[in-house]
Amino acid sequence: MRFRDLSIRRKLTLLILASSVLGLVMACVGLAAYERKSFRASTTNELSALADTLGANAVASMVFNDQKTAADILGALRTEPHILGARLYDANGKVFAEYRRPNIGAEVRMPSWRPDGAAFTPDSLVLFRSVAMNGEKAGSIAIVSDLTGFRAKIVEYTKIAAFVLLISLLATYLVSSRLLSIATAPILKLAELAETVSVSEDFTLRGTIQSRDEVGTLVAAFNDMLERIQQRDAALQKLNAELEGRVEKRTAELSRAKDAAEEANRAKSEFLANMSHEIRTPLNGVIGMTELALETQLTSEQQEYLDTVKLSGDALLTVINDILDFSKIEAGKLDFESIEFNVRESIEAGLKALAIRAHERGLKLNCSVRPEVPTVLVGDPSRLRQVIVNLVGNAIKFTDRGEVTVDVQVDSAEPSSALLRVSVMDTGVGIPQEKQSSIFDAFTQADGSTARRYGGSGLGLTISRRLVEMFGGRLWLDSSVGKGSTFHFTALFGVPAVQITLPPPVIHRSAPEAMKPLRILLAEDNRVNQIVVVRLMEKRGHSVEVASNGREALEKFRLGGFDLLLMDVQMPQMDGFEATAAIREIEKSEAAHIPIIAMTAHAMKGDRERCLAAGMDGYISKPFQIDELMKEIERLPQLTSAIV
Ligand code: ADP
Repeated sequence: MRFRDLSIRRKLTLLILASSVLGLVMACVGLAAYERKSFRASTTNELSALADTLGANAVASMVFNDQKTAADILGALRTEPHILGARLYDANGKVFAEYRRPNIGAEVRMPSWRPDGAAFTPDSLVLFRSVAMNGEKAGSIAIVSDLTGFRAKIVEYTKIAAFVLLISLLATYLVSSRLLSIATAPILKLAELAETVSVSEDFTLRGTIQSRDEVGTLVAAFNDMLERIQQRDAALQKLNAELEGRVEKRTAELSRAKDAAEEANRAKSEFLANMSHEIRTPLNGVIGMTELALETQLTSEQQEYLDTVKLSGDALLTVINDILDFSKIEAGKLDFESIEFNVRESIEAGLKALAIRAHERGLKLNCSVRPEVPTVLVGDPSRLRQVIVNLVGNAIKFTDRGEVTVDVQVDSAEPSSALLRVSVMDTGVGIPQEKQSSIFDAFTQADGSTARRYGGSGLGLTISRRLVEMFGGRLWLDSSVGKGSTFHFTALFGVPAVQITLPPPVIHRSAPEAMKPLRILLAEDNRVNQIVVVRLMEKRGHSVEVASNGREALEKFRLGGFDLLLMDVQMPQMDGFEATAAIREIEKSEAAHIPIIAMTAHAMKGDRERCLAAGMDGYISKPFQIDELMKEIERLPQLTSAIV
């Protein structure tokens, strides 16, 4: 670990110990140097005194050239064990007498003459002194002293110093750590507090000021900072709470507004459905009665008037159906079938009625389904027809001369699906560029006056575009004013693995003589509708008994003798569902089953399912064409035997 990463206490401890060691070592070294110096001085003094004494004693023998006596005098040094040897030199510097301590090796060499002075080697001291006789120099004396004793002493000294150093370091450590803990405790506490605050984010914590030094100032500053953070936090929290309150209020307002809007939308859908119901019922009467009247003997003028009434009724029905479709799409309640159907037959059937209209306007209506289009597709044929009929209807409506062409091809194909592309081209008035997108908006027409000139609700394209989107495709157009328009759309269909050839469409024998006369019970509360159905059925050779509500129908059913029951769903006292349920309950014991066809002006999603679930066998929505009712009757398996 690096020094700077150590804790403060460690750092300070190390610093204190290091400085103590430094101080002690310096003191020891100083003492040792002093000791060495004083030892050398005293040894030199001692040797000098000895040399002077020996020199004084030996000077006479030198004067008399008595070497033997001189050697004896030097031999007195035997009593001084640390003296290794001594030499006397004559005035010319030649060796006069010598002493070597016995038992010393040859490696101890006696020094040759030198001027007076002391010379230290690591192990020895050599001292030269002059010897004088009556103030005249007679020669010199050299003494060699052994210093190994001193070395031993120094080693001893070093050991003691190391020991003292160790003891004092230990003492310093103990004392300093005690003192340091007093000095560093507040800092450590502050660090701990900072850590706790940062982890827990609790800004109410405070440090205690224990001293008036810098650490005290630091703690005070830290506390001050916490105080400010706490205040800011509180302010923020208050703001936040206020904001949350405001958001909650807004959300509540929005949710109320949303509920109100949804309620309004539901009310609108309900209103549209009810309206269409209310309008369809009398319209049922108007169209039915007109059809009846048209079947009687008429003058050509009457025939013309009634044809116009029938046309207007049909047009009105189209508008109402458009509005109903639109409200169903808006409410997300549009039914979409997924069945196998023959594309060419389905399109042809849709164009048949339009061909007549085109012909009446002197237009040519062409239709080509390219060979690559599969025979059988899976999807909703009636919705496909609805879009094509709408586009072709518009094309005929807005074209005065020329032709209308329908082209069906495959845009792209996968093994199990095909994207059809249908183009409807006309040579009509065309649509100005700036109107080309707005005509897809509900209730919008390119030319405000067209409603008067050509009729229409302005819903057709809106519905078509939505239907096409539900088909997984898109609807667009190319158009130039005066030349004509082409509407294109794509729609995705499933392609069945086996392209079975569907049986040719059943030719419905709706002629009255094709069917055995049926005894029909009609449950219907509306007077006009009663008359329409009774007359239409009687004209086809059937007999009809009328009940004005469910209860009455139930009573008449109990009397027996009916082949078929036509049941209005909405009736006073007892509705069609209840009456059907009661009839099916009665039949349980008899193992019988009278076919019941529901007639309803409710054309909302799920009506058919609800009727079938309630135990009815067929379903028809009002107003109906007589052919539609006959088809529904012929579809019933219970009545197949009745068909001749
Ligand atoms: P409408 O029931 O009024 O025909 P649509 O939604 O079907 O309503 O059409 C909206 C408007 O778009 C029409 O009123 C007409 O102005 C314009 N339009 C639609 N098809 C054509 C066409 N083939 N040629 C010219 N104008 C067209």
